[in-house]
Formats: sequence, C-alpha cells, structure tokens
Amino acid sequence: MAAEVRLATDDAIVVTGAGGFIGGHLVAHLARSGFTNVRAVDSKPLDQWYQRPADARCLEADLRDSIVCQAVTTDARWVFNLAADMGGMGFIEANRARCMLSVLINTNLLLGAMRHGVERYFFSSSACVYNVGLQRRPDVTALREEDAYPAAPEDGYGWEKLFSERMCRHFSEDFGLATRTARYHNVYGPHGTWDGGREKAPAAICRKVAAAKLFGHKTIDIWGDGRQTRSFTYIDDCVDGTLRIFSGGHQDPLNLGSEELVSIDDVVTIVEEIAGVRLKRVYQVDAPKGVRGRNSDNTLIREVLGWAPSTTLRDGLEQTFGWVYDQLRAGRLDPDARDAVLSTA
Ligand code: NAD
Repeated sequence: MAAEVRLATDDAIVVTGAGGFIGGHLVAHLARSGFTNVRAVDSKPLDQWYQRPADARCLEADLRDSIVCQAVTTDARWVFNLAADMGGMGFIEANRARCMLSVLINTNLLLGAMRHGVERYFFSSSACVYNVGLQRRPDVTALREEDAYPAAPEDGYGWEKLFSERMCRHFSEDFGLATRTARYHNVYGPHGTWDGGREKAPAAICRKVAAAKLFGHKTIDIWGDGRQTRSFTYIDDCVDGTLRIFSGGHQDPLNLGSEELVSIDDVVTIVEEIAGVRLKRVYQVDAPKGVRGRNSDNTLIREVLGWAPSTTLRDGLEQTFGWVYDQLRAGRLDPDARDAVLSTA
C-alpha cells in the first residue's frame, strides 16, 4: 500500500462534516493550499456552517443516505470523513442512539468510496474508544493505541467509533480500500461549537469566563469537582496531524492528541489569567463529566510519522478565548442558549 499520496490541485477531495469545527478548518486549509476541487458536505443549512471558503463547493446533504454517499464520492480521489452527530459529554450521555446512528455515515461513505475507486479514505475516530476501566483516576496513565482492547468504550458514541474503526480496517483488508484513522483527543480552538449544549469543556469555560468579564458575573459553574483530567489538542495541530496521518504509511488507528495533562480546574485558572478575572467556583458534581482522567500517549505517532503537536495549552486557549469573547460581545449567541449564558453566575 502506497505510503505517500499526492494530488494534482484539481483532483476531487471530499470533506464531510465540513460545516462543523474540524471539517471547516480542514476545508479552509485545503483551499489555502491551492486545492481547487474540494467538495465540502454537511447536513446543516449552509448559513449555519462555521466556515465556508469561497473556493470550496459546499453541499447541504444528509450522509446517512446511501444515495447521497454514492453521489458525493463519484470521481473523488480522497475522502475525509469528519461528519458525526456529536458534542461534549452533556450531549453524548443524553443521546447515545443518535451518536450510534453516525455508523450509517461511515458505512455508506465507505461503500461509495469503494465503488468509485477512491485512493484513500480518512476516518475521524476518538479517544472515547478507549477502555473506560483504564480512565478511573485523575493521575491516569496515558492511553496507548492497544488500550482500546479488550473493548469497553464510552457507551453509544465510543462504541460507534470503535465499530467504524474496525469497518475501515476490514474494508482495507478485504476490499483493498486504503484507510487511515486518527483518534482525536479533545480538539479545541476558534470556529468551533461554543454554546447551545454541544460544546466541549475548553469552549464552555472560555464562554463562561468571557460572560463573567462582559457582564460582571462573580462566579463560574464547573461540571464535576474540577479535578478530572484531560489533554487538549489545538485545532491547527489537529489539521496538521490529520494530513500527516492521511498521507503517511500507518494503516491502524493513531492517537492525535497532546500529552499535556491538566485538570479542569487548571483550564479555568489559565482562562481566568488570560481574561484577567478571578471567579468563585461552583462545582456541579451531578453534571455529566465523562471519565475521571484521560491523556494521550504519543509514542506511536512520534515513531511512525515523527509527529508531535506544537501548540501549548496556554497559547491555544488564548486564541480560543479571544474568539469566543468576540462572538459573545457581538451577540452571536444561539437564541436557545441566550438566557442560560447571560444569567450564568
Ligand atoms: P462538529 O459537530 O463541529 O462537526 C461535525 C459535523 O458533522 C457537524 O457540522 C454536523 O452537522 C455534521 N453531520 C452530522 N450528521 C451528519 C449527517 N448525517 N450528514 C452530514 N453531516 C452531518 O464536530 P467536530 O469537532 O468538527 O468533529 C469532527 C469529527 O471528529 C467527528 O467525527 C467527531 O466525532 C470527531 N472527534 C472530534 C473531537 C473533538 O474534540 N472535536 C474529538 C474526538 C473525535
């Protein structure tokens, strides 16, 4: 199987989930890099896409439909599947069936890619595939790729990702379709979901601190006891790592994450420092909070691709906070989230 893939700038590239966070950044990056034939696909109405580069062909379509998947993969050479019905822990824990239905997207896209002779296919998996039994302590041992088995992933969302990873592998083994899979660890940055209920911890914390700064709140609500730990990947590193995994020769899933382990309290402290405020913390111990600790072990991706992320959490949060603050100041709140955000103590 070829390790390196190269395209002419007018070869067709499909990016699904392109109206969302990571897909939007990937399309923008490809457009900036001179690719002129990018098909950007998402089920969201076009006016709700986070980014819409003028050079890309943007299509609103539901990829759970097999006919749609056959159509969008026609004559394509590369496919990046970044579409999924997903969100932060609040969304995932309350919508397990919806998360699992994303299996239709990957299945139908793989079938389309196989039928149309796509050269390479990328699947966006998640750290939620890892065995939850290994993530019960804040001082967690970083997760290596083999820790996904024996399988006991996050219910719903994690099971769908693990199943779809395996389907990619077997399409490769049985049908010769070259696939690549990244296991993303908590990606954050500008132009992502920051309100409305699907946002993840860094964006939610940036929004709460920005609201405190703008509206004079004195306290901040934190989901859990603040001691749960994670590592967070800045979006530029995510796009760079995605392209490295995609064009590299390693077929099995690879962690794409940061090894900078922090607690949620640490994230709040950094964002407070960036914003120049100090808030009283109110811990909501019954709120959804996911596993107790999770970190990425990047040994394998360093070994096989020589890749490591380059953005520190502080630098990434500075960019993210600045963007969220500007959104809030400009009044670009989801109307359904408006009252909750403005009254967040
Ligand atoms: P996102 O929610 O911003 O983007 C996903 C996009 O998929 C959305 O715009 C959504 O409208 C679209 N979509 C959902 N169902 C669809 C359908 N049936 N047809 C067409 N489009 C559909 O999420 P993201 O953060 O950009 O995540 C991209 C991918 O990376 C997803 O597969 C996600 O599971 C995975 N991932 C993300 C993270 C993270 O921290 N952001 C972590 C692990 C894995």
